[in-house]
Parts: sequence; C-alpha cells; structure tokens
Amino acid sequence: MTDARFILSQYDNMTTEPPPSSIVTWIEARRVLPSDSPIPGYYRFNRTPYQKEICENLNPYSPIRETIVLKSRKVGMTTAVDGAIGFWIGAWPSSIIYCTATESLAKQWATENILHVIESCGLNDRLIAPFSNARNKRNAVTTKRIEFIGGNLSIISSGSTDARRAKNCRVLVLDETDGLPEMTTTGEGSFIEILRGHQMAWGARRKFCAFSSPTTLESSAIWRLYSAYDERKFLIPCPVCGRDIELVDADDEANHGLKADTQAGKIIDVYYLCPHCGDVFHNKDKTIFFSDNPHCKKDPHKKLEPAHWEPTKKTDDPYSRSYSINSLYSPIGAMTWTDMFKAKVKARSEGGDGLRSYVNLYLGLPFKDTGQRPKVDRVIELRGEYKSGEVPKGVVFLVAAVDVQKGSEKDPDNPPRLELEILGICPGRISYSIFYKRIEGAIDDPYGGAWEKFTDWASEGGLTYTRADGLPLRVQIIGIDSGYLPDVVYRFCEAGRDILPVKGFGQKSMAAGKDEKGDLPGGYKRYRASKIGSSEIRLLEINTWHYKDHVYNRLKIERQPGDVQKNGFCGFPRDYGDEYFLMLCGEEKRTDGSFHPIRERVEALDCRVYNEALADFFLEMQVMAWKQWYQSKKGWSLIRLKEIDTLFVLEKIRQNPRNVFSGIYK
Ligand SMILES: [Zn+2]
Repeated sequence: MTDARFILSQYDNMTTEPPPSSIVTWIEARRVLPSDSPIPGYYRFNRTPYQKEICENLNPYSPIRETIVLKSRKVGMTTAVDGAIGFWIGAWPSSIIYCTATESLAKQWATENILHVIESCGLNDRLIAPFSNARNKRNAVTTKRIEFIGGNLSIISSGSTDARRAKNCRVLVLDETDGLPEMTTTGEGSFIEILRGHQMAWGARRKFCAFSSPTTLESSAIWRLYSAYDERKFLIPCPVCGRDIELVDADDEANHGLKADTQAGKIIDVYYLCPHCGDVFHNKDKTIFFSDNPHCKKDPHKKLEPAHWEPTKKTDDPYSRSYSINSLYSPIGAMTWTDMFKAKVKARSEGGDGLRSYVNLYLGLPFKDTGQRPKVDRVIELRGEYKSGEVPKGVVFLVAAVDVQKGSEKDPDNPPRLELEILGICPGRISYSIFYKRIEGAIDDPYGGAWEKFTDWASEGGLTYTRADGLPLRVQIIGIDSGYLPDVVYRFCEAGRDILPVKGFGQKSMAAGKDEKGDLPGGYKRYRASKIGSSEIRLLEINTWHYKDHVYNRLKIERQPGDVQKNGFCGFPRDYGDEYFLMLCGEEKRTDGSFHPIRERVEALDCRVYNEALADFFLEMQVMAWKQWYQSKKGWSLIRLKEIDTLFVLEKIRQNPRNVFSGIYK
C-alpha cells in the first residue's frame, strides 16, 4: 500500500454521521469495563447517576466550559472522565491534554486506562501512526502522546518538561489536581494557570475539567477551584418519604446521616437516617434512589424526581460549575456504607493523619488542620519553688538567647526592644528557666539604645548567677536573633567573645549540604554553624520546626513531687506571669510539621528555641575542644577519643563549672 492510499483508507474510517449529542449515550453504547474492575460489563450511568451531568458538561454542545469536581475515592470519577476523553477521540476528534500529578501516574494512565478506553470503545482504527518514511515508523501510541484522526492526546505530569511548552488544546483534563505543584520555580505563576493558557485560542469552546481528592483547607487547589463556582450537591430522593436529601457524614448527635447499630462492640447494621421522615434506608437501596424512575415506600405511585445536582451558591459565571461528591455515593459493588462506617471508626481511633485521610479520601473534603500545641494551664503548673534569678541545684551550665523585636516607637505596648531568656541546663536534658527580661529601646544602633542597656546590664553582673550550692555560674554562650537586623546584630556580636548571631529556618531550608551529615530523619539538620562571608563571625542557623517540636514535646512532661525530675523536664520560676506561658505556647503545630503563631507575641518561644539549639551547639563544641585537648596533650587514640561525648562533657562541667573551653564559637 502506498502512503497516499494508506492515508485515504484512514479517512475512510472517519465517521460521516453528525457527532452524537450525548456523551452519556455514546459511552453507554460502547464502553465495556474489564472483568477485573469492580463493576465489569457495559458501562451504565444508573449505577453512578452523579456522573451524567459532569460528563455532559464536557459535551461540545454544552455551553459549560469549566467543570470542577471535589471528590472522594470510589466514586468512579476517573473512569467516567476517561470515557469522555474516549468521546473526544472517537466522536469529536480534537486536541486534548490529560495531566496528572506524577510521572508514574501519567504512565499508568497512558498504558492502562486510556488504552482500555480506546480498545473497548472500538477506536483502534482511529489511531494513526505518522511516519516520515517506510523505515522510520513511529508508533501512534506512546506513553506521552496518542495521535488519532483529527486530533491528538498529550499525557503529561507536573514533572514533565513539556507541561510549560506552548501547546494548543481544546480539552484540558486535570486529574489529582491537589498533587500538582502550586507555583513554578521560575515564577511564571501557578502550574494550573500555565496549563490553562494552552486553551486560550479556544475561547468559549474550550473544556476544562479538574477533579481530585482534596488535601488541607489551606493548601488544596481543588478546594479553591470548587469554592470559586456554584458548589453543587447531589440530592437523592429518600426511598422512604421521597424527599430530597444530600448524603453526608453528619455528627454523631445529628438527627440524620450514616449510623450504625452495634452489639458487643461489633457492627451489626449500618444505615442512613433521613432528616425529613426519621426513617432509615440501606446501601442496597441505591438501586432505588439512583434509578431513573425512583419510588418511595410512603407513596409508591408518586412520581419522584430522580437523583440530581443542585447548586448551593449563586455565581455570576453561568459557564462554570463545581461539584462535591463523597464515598456514600459509591456505586453498589464498590464501597459499601459498612466499609465507610468502619473506616470512620478506625480513623477516629487513629486520630491525626488517620482522620485526615478519612476526611480527604472518604468524605472528599479538605482537612481543616487545627494544629496542636501544649495546654497553657498544664504548662503553667511547671512553675517551681525557685524565684527568677535563682539557679536550682542540678544546673551545670547556662545559655542565653536574645530575640530582637522591631515593634513601633508609637505603640507603648509594642516598643522596639530585646527580649532575653537565660536557661540552665542539667544532665538528662532537664532545663530550668533562670531569668526572662525585656529591654526596651532603639535597636538600630549596636552601641546605643537597647543594645547599650544590654551591655551595661551584662557588665553589672547580669550574666552571672549563684547556684543553690553557692557556686557562681556564668552564661557560657549568648545567641542573638539576627533575622531582622543582621548588620546591627553582626556588629554587636563582634564585641563579645561568646556572643554569636542566630537565625531560624523552617525544616525544609535546613537540608544538609553535600559535605555535611544530616542529623535528623530525611537528611535534615538541627542547626548549622557557618562563617559569615570573610568576617570572623559565625552564624548559627537553627531548624526551628525541629526545636519547637522538641520544646513542645518536653513541655508535656509533668512535674514530679520532690527534687528529682524526669529527663527532659522543663522547670520555670514561680514568679513568671501567665503572659510568659501564653507566649511560650503561642504557636501550633500542623500535620505537615510546620508551626504557625496563633497570637502576636511569641518571643518566649523564640528565645527558648534558640536556647535549646545553643545548648546543643555549646556541648558539641566542647566535645570537639576536649577531643583536641586529649589528643594533643595525652596522645589519645581515635578509639579512646570516641569516649568523649556530650555526657562526658556534662560530667566534667558538673565536677567543676570552670571545666569549659571558652572563646571557641567563632
Ligand atoms: Zn425520608
């Protein structure tokens, strides 16, 4: 066969009838699901009636341009949209982009889903294999592109380099939208917006469909898209009273929703309680309330409106619709209400991440991350017998951290100032807050204002304290927050021997470098000390997520009666006011490990985090100095040098507080 003949024969395959008016009818006439799928055989929308309107939105005859679906698992949305893509290949050829979150999902979709659609809908003869000559044939189907008569389908992921390249497509389908990156690194704007740009030329005839399970309320892209439009809910007629209801997972106390009867802890019946009639119905009743001709028990002859979508919000955009669907609507043969109820019980017992995946994957809703923080009332009980300025017996060394607050000259409640905490460290990582001080004054001149007051206070003995047994202890190392005014802080730190600038970072910024070893899971570091440019000053960068987590975990350790406390215990002087503890517990931890302030003042927490990192840095620097000393003075072998660790150092200082190497931090 010559090339020309081949091409002509291909065009013979093209349909001559006008394009079909319904995607749903087109799919039902062709699509057969494989025997290993939950519901094998011909595709029937009366098992999943909520998919009808969504599929028809993608019909070229429909004026709807944008369709957003906020979905749970097991509602067959991928299968339905795959069928609609089949329609755009076979019945109305066009250029299509299918984009999913990862390269492996894209590959899976290309090699399994879409090939099956093409085969089961009898579209194999539409595929074309373009070639430049007889020897150099290309395949019509690759994992990145499928070419067919009249159009093509690009399969991309957020990881593919193609995504940003200019393309022209009429149909854009985004699967797993919440797995797509929020912003591009090059600052061109959001990834989704870049993809949408490829549709510009199609104006009102474009079709945009995004569907996904959501993540958290703050970060979910599908939730944002959903909230921008008319937020449709799917209403079913109650099979008892016939009135419309939305299937929801309501509170336990609610007079409606998914409920269960249990006997001796075992679930014996799971049912749905109707808010209108107070009667119950079961998962198997889906055959009634999903059917095209539903009926109800109370009035069997009454004609009921079949299950349908209803907008819950008015918008000024008639061409865009958003939908929300949960696993209670899952078709018979997929997830049952019993499965769903069991998942809920399990999620509740797990809490945290378990609850979060139940909300995302079963309810199809974003998780509202309420965050966690210590209970202030409990932490206040950690106040002990000693007064601020006194040093309890077990303390072996002192560290100090200074937080720099910009404040405002005009606001008497929030003036420019320094806030500092002196912390006493004992073996077993027990700590006692010794002193908390606020020094008001200008902070932009390292020789004046609050800095001058700080220097005066220090030279008048502010950094030396007497331990309960009479021994004087001097602050070993001082860290000053340089995040806000680095130059001023660097200059101030030049003046003192054991003063160094510190700076906080969220965990992700603290990945270990090439020649460093991460000391936390995932290759992250607790802190990093590095020289600033060519100066003699060392900057201590602190992984604040790690230290905040560390502090919050330890604030849960309760006070024991008597003098002996558990390892990790944090004690506070009896005269610290409530405001101090509100600041200390002023941030909440989210499930992703990040911390967020819930009040304006959190300086006490910042100081504590710097102090904990300073104590680690101090001990590790002492270990190094002791090793060097033993090696040079006593010629210790590498094996013996291993005996020198932080416990060794703590014991040395416990025996004599003067057993420290000073001036080694720069
Ligand atoms: Zn009812």
